[in-house]
Amino acid sequence: MRRITTYHDTRGADISRPTFTDVVIRGIATGGGLYVPDEFPSFDVNEILAFTEWPYPRRAANVFSRFGVDVSAERTEMLMREAYGRQWSDPRIAPVTEVVPGTHVLELWHGPTRAFKDMALQCMPLFFSEAVSMKQERGIVSEDFLILVATSGDTGKAALEGFADRPHTRIVVFYPAEGVSDIQLKQMVTQQGHNVGVFGVRGNFDDCQNAVKAAFAHEAFNSWLATEHRLRLSSANSINWGRLLPQIVYYLSAYADMVASGGVRPGEPMDVCVPTGNFGNILGAYYAKRIGVPIERLICASNENKVLADFIATGVYDITEREFVTTPSPSMDILISSNLERQLYELTRDAVRTGEWMTTLRETGRFQVDRETFGSLREHFAADSVTNDESLGCIRRVWDDHGYLLDPHTAVAWEVAERLRGENPLLVVSTAHWAKFGTDVYRSLKRIRHADELPEEVATLSDVELLAEVQKLAPRAACVPRSLAELDDAEVRFAEVVDAGREGVESAIRRWLA
Ligand SMILES: *Cc1c(COP(=O)(O)O)cnc(C)c1O
Repeated sequence: MRRITTYHDTRGADISRPTFTDVVIRGIATGGGLYVPDEFPSFDVNEILAFTEWPYPRRAANVFSRFGVDVSAERTEMLMREAYGRQWSDPRIAPVTEVVPGTHVLELWHGPTRAFKDMALQCMPLFFSEAVSMKQERGIVSEDFLILVATSGDTGKAALEGFADRPHTRIVVFYPAEGVSDIQLKQMVTQQGHNVGVFGVRGNFDDCQNAVKAAFAHEAFNSWLATEHRLRLSSANSINWGRLLPQIVYYLSAYADMVASGGVRPGEPMDVCVPTGNFGNILGAYYAKRIGVPIERLICASNENKVLADFIATGVYDITEREFVTTPSPSMDILISSNLERQLYELTRDAVRTGEWMTTLRETGRFQVDRETFGSLREHFAADSVTNDESLGCIRRVWDDHGYLLDPHTAVAWEVAERLRGENPLLVVSTAHWAKFGTDVYRSLKRIRHADELPEEVATLSDVELLAEVQKLAPRAACVPRSLAELDDAEVRFAEVVDAGREGVESAIRRWLA
């Protein structure tokens, strides 16, 4: 008999023992905790090395099945072939490249939106849709789901691309009209699919997020959606376990590939260095280590918003004195790192303590872990942070020295990896194609500081046109992907900008559903 894993939550409030498909739909537990599995599989090295015989979808299906998901193995493999199929620019999906002897790069940006969020968001919506369909058949759920997303850029596009045309789902994305890059905007407003909607919000990301949160909490709106449209709200954000599980897969996959290429000897450890924001990607690496991947150090790389690097150095998480900084790596610009809660729980397996830390953080803006927990954190993690200009300097240096063009997020990881590297083979995790953040790559190659204006001769170009200029400066770099190069000519499907606040968001949804 196949074993099905049940879940509990990091604050111990939810005693319903949900399965994988339950937690994918629910997202967050009642009581505010995050779901974690009751038990973990254990892989021996040979089981990991066997991955080299399999294409990526099979690797992913194997990990999911070993984690006891309540979807059959055959069906899981079918869904994985769709999740990691022809929409990827490399059939290996998450290939590993040795850029310098001993330093390998795990490229997580071959998906349709050219950034790391696709690794989870090409997969999770398929299981979300499957879960709804299973529960409708059993009469547990009668509605379809409306996914509401507030985005500062990358997540919105990746979620749209993932949920587009998925049965039983619709998705509406709200972005701050003042706050996304030209490329991010064009990627979103040209999104195809019959079940998608995109709206700008007059305001910044906080306005956008607060308005969406208010709509979630508004009972009258929720019951109107249920009675008039048979829809229930959901969020699909990065604390959803359904987004985390696919992020464990590529660390097993990478280890197997590195052994196959001779980058690491079978069973010998590697270190991984991950550019970190919400702590989802590096948490995937931690779980991979826990289930058997020979990883020694998990190196957390922060940009100037370095609350995580400071936490790993001191055991104190403190946002009371911190200003939010704008950086060339916007997808790592955070103050509250939501998946850290899972990490603290996994180190202690103590829901009471974890809940107390989270309450203290909410009430005082700060918490400190005890000595024992700090000790076990330091057993696994190392960390450092990189300034804006250091990250741009790193892009230019790695290009000049090694002919490999990094995006600004990956550059943060590369820089930290160089500073903290030890004897082990090193895996640097690359989270975006350089062209996704081409403006700062241009600055880097032209030695322009992050805070300075672009020179006159390029200042009037669109972001997309600027990519061609970067390509001239770095002709041997990976080509600009077609989906980005053609953005200036793509049809704009969504041009509406709405007022901030709950009313603005709700009336946009009402009109969109009408
Ligand atoms: C989301 C994102 C990150 C940060 O990942 P977390 O899981 O939030 O730590 C880094 N780089 C890019 C390009 C991203 O989109």
